[in-house]
Amino acid sequence: MISCSQKKSSQSFTAMNTFMTVSLYSSSAKKSREVCTLVQKRIEELEGLLSTTLPFSEVYKINHSESQPSSLSPDLQSLLDFSLELYQKTGGAFNPALYPLIREWGFTTGDYKVPSQERIEKLLQHTDFSKLYEDEKIELDFGAVRKGYAADQALLILKENGIKSALLDFGGNIQALGSKPDGSLWKIGIKNPWDGGVACALSLESKAVVTSGGYERYFEKDGEKYIHIFDPATGHPSQSDLESVTIICESGKYADALSTALFVMGSDVAVDWWRANPDFDFILITKSGSLLYSEGLEGFIEPLYQFASVESVKSVCQD
Ligand code: ADP
Ligand code: MG
Repeated sequence: MISCSQKKSSQSFTAMNTFMTVSLYSSSAKKSREVCTLVQKRIEELEGLLSTTLPFSEVYKINHSESQPSSLSPDLQSLLDFSLELYQKTGGAFNPALYPLIREWGFTTGDYKVPSQERIEKLLQHTDFSKLYEDEKIELDFGAVRKGYAADQALLILKENGIKSALLDFGGNIQALGSKPDGSLWKIGIKNPWDGGVACALSLESKAVVTSGGYERYFEKDGEKYIHIFDPATGHPSQSDLESVTIICESGKYADALSTALFVMGSDVAVDWWRANPDFDFILITKSGSLLYSEGLEGFIEPLYQFASVESVKSVCQD
């Protein structure tokens, strides 16, 4: 247990299109402020590498050049290695090569449109992420993983500086370091997709909690809703049966990439995938109002909404 004389220090800033807050506890207020600033600097450095829209970023340069780069920064190389592995493992549901489609549908500018099927099929030809080092037309977009990666990097800085208790809130990405200074668990609220309230509360320590939802960035046309999470198989916004997916595990980048991938898979495939790869916990909220969560969360999750059904999913199929 950490002593209660710990002082809280918080710093907020905007990066990666997100309002971010770093809250940490340490015995020295000066030290806390310094560490918060180190974290902010590191996040800004990562944004400068991974942004798709800042013209000096490494990703921007790759996306706008005809040839493959001769060398990559260690951060980008590490994200590419991780992403390639997860692209394979998720059968392509997680795919950071969808940028041409995301742009065509207007999600980069807010100038939304439904492209023709012919155009979608043409753009899909250069989205095979496994051809990363062969197809020079592949354009990168780490929107589904960079906040999680940034949180992992922030955690390293906190640990290097001896911080034992901290909470990072990067939009839908939460990263808890240790427990609260009094030794109790952090209590994290998972957003209710329908009314913006809290759908359920989670008690935990030392975990990343990342939610992907179709309710925050979308547009509507002719009665159809088009969300910012794409199905790489069709080149269209995902139409899975899910409203939101939350992943809980130690690694922020794994939680972030998986929250997007499992969303695309839909509830049945997502549960099967988890049974084959049970190294994380999940919370699925379906469009029909059901709550499904992995059995590891039993006793730590508290539903706070009248769901149509609530199910604790077992790792071994019992049907
Ligand atoms: P958020 O950015 O709202 O936290 P996500 O982590 O789910 O949500 O990431 C969504 C972003 O990732 C999109 O805005 C887009 O840039 C990109 N993206 C969309 N679909 C996919 C996908 N299937 N695989 C990888 N990246 C995706
Ligand atoms: Mg994600």
